[in-house]
Amino acid sequence: MARYGMIIDISKCIGCYNCFLSCRDEFAGNEYRSYSAAQPMEGQDWIRVIEKERGQYPKVKVSYTPIPCMHCDDAPCIKMAQDGAVYKRDDGIVIIDPVKAKGQKELMSSCPYRVIEWNEQEQLPQKCTLCAHMLDKGEKEPRCVESCPTGALIFGDLDDPGSEVSQFIASGKTEALHGGYDIKEKVRYMGLPGKFIAGTVIYGDRDECAEGVTVALNRESERREVKTNAFGDFEFEGLEDNTEYSISITAGGYKEQNILATTRKDIYLGEIALKNS
Ligand code: SF4
Ligand code: SF4
Repeated sequence: MARYGMIIDISKCIGCYNCFLSCRDEFAGNEYRSYSAAQPMEGQDWIRVIEKERGQYPKVKVSYTPIPCMHCDDAPCIKMAQDGAVYKRDDGIVIIDPVKAKGQKELMSSCPYRVIEWNEQEQLPQKCTLCAHMLDKGEKEPRCVESCPTGALIFGDLDDPGSEVSQFIASGKTEALHGGYDIKEKVRYMGLPGKFIAGTVIYGDRDECAEGVTVALNRESERREVKTNAFGDFEFEGLEDNTEYSISITAGGYKEQNILATTRKDIYLGEIALKNS
């Protein structure tokens, strides 16, 4: 028997909302008996896409993070449920029983990811089923995975060492969305954005963009080097949170510039003018 899991590669997510829309299309107004009651036509999203603006003008980026149920192996929702109203199937999918869970509104607060929603009309907690009703009929993937145009959602068998999901996990590149919960999430993430430091270098004596200038980033034994582009811009991505980095800028005939920056947030250093040596 397979044990299902999913990897969400944030670096590939373009925020098209196809996953959200296909999930709504599958479940809104549609009941799948023993798996899920119909999702209300409004007000629920079983995979929500969180949009986050990063940086400051003029260096602003947007990242998108799709968040479904994580189908945790050590799920708090299962522990809190009365009468076995939430259970884990042999294939690892966590299901809220649409009959037994009636009235158990408190289940919403059991989930640290806050992915359990309340159906007021049915008096029922509801969430992503990983499209178990489709998988049981022989479909290979949930609707959201099928509809993702960029391959940001990867689905497969965690017990098959040859599956893409297993190989990514073995590579050590995946992580839980929140590492501190310790609930063995079977939906894992890759490419979660770290902080960035960016800036624009100009020649102070000529007031021109400084192209091809060497910018180095240093922290303890870590060192990275980039060249400024035609606009004098440089950028270092994927940096640690709350960490002090030293940036040095060197160009022939100009004094070296050294700047300290701490990544409490994404940082745009603004225009940095080089002075003649
Ligand atoms: S993400 Fe939340 S709802 Fe889903 S299995 Fe984990 S605790 Fe339960
Ligand atoms: S369908 Fe894919 S690319 Fe589009 S928002 Fe969802 S995960 Fe991102």
